[in-house]
Amino acid sequence: MSYADIILPVPLTGLFTYAVPDGMSVGIGMRVLVTFGRSKTYLGIVARLHNEKPKDYQVKPISQVMDATPIITDNQLKLWQWIADYYMSPIGEVYKAALPSGLKAEDGYRPRTELYIQLSPKFRSEQALHVAIDMLQRAPKQLKAFLDYLELSGWDQLGQTEEQFEITRDELINQGHTLQSVNALVQRGVLETYDKEVGRLNFGGDPHPEHIKPLSDVQQEAFNQIQFSFLQKNVTLLHGVTSSGKTEIYIHLIQQALDKHQQVLYLLPEIALTVQMMQRLQRVFGNRLGIYHSKYSDAERVEIWQKQLSKHPYDVILGARSAVLLPFQNLGLIIVDEEHVTSYKQQDPAPRYHARSAAIMLAQMYGAKTLLGTATPSLETYHNAKTGKYGLVELFQRYKGIQLPEIQVVDIKDLQHRKMMNGVFSPLLLAKTREALERGEQVIYFQNRRGYAPMIECKQCGWVPHCQHCDVSLTLHRNMNQLTCHYCGYTYQVPTECPACGGHDLITKGYGTEKIEDQLRDIFPEARIARMDLDTTRTRNAYERIISDFSAGRTNLLIGTQMISKGLDFDKVSVVGILNADNMLNYPDFRAYEQAYMMMAQVAGRAGRKGKQGLVILQTKSPTLPVIQQVVQNDYAGLYRSLIAERQHFHYPPYYRLIYVYLKHRSDAVVESAGIEMGSRLRQWFSARVLGPDKPAIAKVKSLSIRKLVLKLEPGIGMADVRKYLALAQQQMLQDKRYSSLQIYFDVDPQ
Ligand code: ADP
Ligand code: ZN
Ligand code: ZN
Repeated sequence: MSYADIILPVPLTGLFTYAVPDGMSVGIGMRVLVTFGRSKTYLGIVARLHNEKPKDYQVKPISQVMDATPIITDNQLKLWQWIADYYMSPIGEVYKAALPSGLKAEDGYRPRTELYIQLSPKFRSEQALHVAIDMLQRAPKQLKAFLDYLELSGWDQLGQTEEQFEITRDELINQGHTLQSVNALVQRGVLETYDKEVGRLNFGGDPHPEHIKPLSDVQQEAFNQIQFSFLQKNVTLLHGVTSSGKTEIYIHLIQQALDKHQQVLYLLPEIALTVQMMQRLQRVFGNRLGIYHSKYSDAERVEIWQKQLSKHPYDVILGARSAVLLPFQNLGLIIVDEEHVTSYKQQDPAPRYHARSAAIMLAQMYGAKTLLGTATPSLETYHNAKTGKYGLVELFQRYKGIQLPEIQVVDIKDLQHRKMMNGVFSPLLLAKTREALERGEQVIYFQNRRGYAPMIECKQCGWVPHCQHCDVSLTLHRNMNQLTCHYCGYTYQVPTECPACGGHDLITKGYGTEKIEDQLRDIFPEARIARMDLDTTRTRNAYERIISDFSAGRTNLLIGTQMISKGLDFDKVSVVGILNADNMLNYPDFRAYEQAYMMMAQVAGRAGRKGKQGLVILQTKSPTLPVIQQVVQNDYAGLYRSLIAERQHFHYPPYYRLIYVYLKHRSDAVVESAGIEMGSRLRQWFSARVLGPDKPAIAKVKSLSIRKLVLKLEPGIGMADVRKYLALAQQQMLQDKRYSSLQIYFDVDPQ
């Protein structure tokens, strides 16, 4: 009898053994149907085949094999196992995160068609639109659906473009409209629907290696150093200031790998960045380039997965974090661009893995090299490079010797004192913005808060609305006339009077991007303003539209959150305003200064990228903080020196390793006592390495109360034992009846 150890998509540690019935042909990496628990059927993945009959339980047979050939490669299985072990997460969770749902569904994957809608041709003029809107006045639900359609599809920009925009019917319905209203619009002839096959990968045309730009001398020198470094080191850091041409160097490295018939994985932290990068890479690599990200439909992701297993896989994959979980055949190089960005680490749900670390592991399995690139390395990476674990190549010059932007610091406190601020805008910022716009140049404003105002408050009694499910105040979104919780997504009506005192004076506090946009429209009525944040980029093509409008000069003043801070390459941005540096500096985390520096340096890097030096206006209440001066002087080395000394002194990474232990429960009393008990269990093994339990700054999210313990582990401690004890403590806690519905999880190397 032979047996198969199977990965199941359940939150339980380990593999599950099943018997392989006689005559069944099954291989590692294939999907199988099995029953688990009370006869529930699961689609599992075969991880191991062997002849050892399990002693302690009755094995059930595999019910069915779903694949003729493996759909998971050996290296993927190895990587899954590494992620599961290192990040202390059941391998079933890794499986769930890795596989597109079409491959997880029992009935397998079929190409699907989706219902699309578009505006009927006869309504495609401004006049006709008015007729349609008049016609719908008596059907408010339909009118609302129609207006949402216009916004989603881009028809709100009528007059600026003649293109028709289509969206899926689901996209519209997901905005909260009923099928009835949408169908009524179709019946009235305003909208029309049609089926369209989805999952067509867009083919990029023939590759054009001749489009590769020749490198400048300094770039060539860096390129050579990278090659040389790869002779000795598996991982190399390319630390190059913004606009030094790192991307052009990557393109050369990619082509070189392709010439050796190797595959390349190019990771980027965020979706917003892929549009421009995609175009740059597609110009050169054409249909040899595949793109993989979460905004793609499931069908598209399944197709890429299958193509990667086929005889003609993509040679280059460009993707966000989860692309590291794709199948590869002969990977030669991984580029982790903007390696410092913390969103490379997955937060929720498990597996809480860091794509940079996973990439380095994956490369190792293929004997491939990893290049980490950034203008502002994470402290961990720079430390690894400085201490010789990684190679280090540095580029201190922008392409064509263009100067880094000049940074002027504005002291908000002083100006407020002198009553010279216009809301959040300093006179200098407004004056420089006006001049730039008048010269036909572009301006970017950065504010790391979306919504209209982060808080509203009753002027009389000070009442502040809070989320019912989370321990946070609500953000006002005026465009939608809603209060929203940014932690659970719950929305609330904006009260007309204060529920505490009945007062009618509810005032807004603080500034989100929406309010800034509103006020800028008043201050610069002639400017063409766009906003890029989570709220304006919910639909599939929204990023692309905002970025391409700005690139083409159709808009000239762009307001955004951290989405605009990285990787975007615009030609005509001469002024960048950082409205409030203090939001970032005051964040209660040991990485606050590192993060703030990076954010500011990256945003600043958007200024003056072609032709001339740009200007950055940095508004802050703490102009004398060393980190502000380091930003002004582009003194990454200074920042590194001061922070690394602090990290060493206070036992933080990269010297010490951190593991956060989270406990969550609906009852605050239960989680309180569980935290104390977990703390004492952990102290038995880890003694003074354990801190807490503490209430985190936001101690309740989605109706679950939270406690957090911190483990600080000195270098050289045996991690295998650490993991063993943590798992044991978790298990013992959950066996206690009082804590059976407690959630306990670990965040290894938290960001
Ligand atoms: P980084 O990735 O370091 O921010 P980029 O690669 O985006 O820098 O380069 C900044 C700008 O300079 C881009 O528009 C890029 O096309 C241009 N550039 C950089 N190097 C070259 C080169 N060797 N030849 C032509 N243009 C270049
Ligand atoms: Zn009140
Ligand atoms: Zn909430």
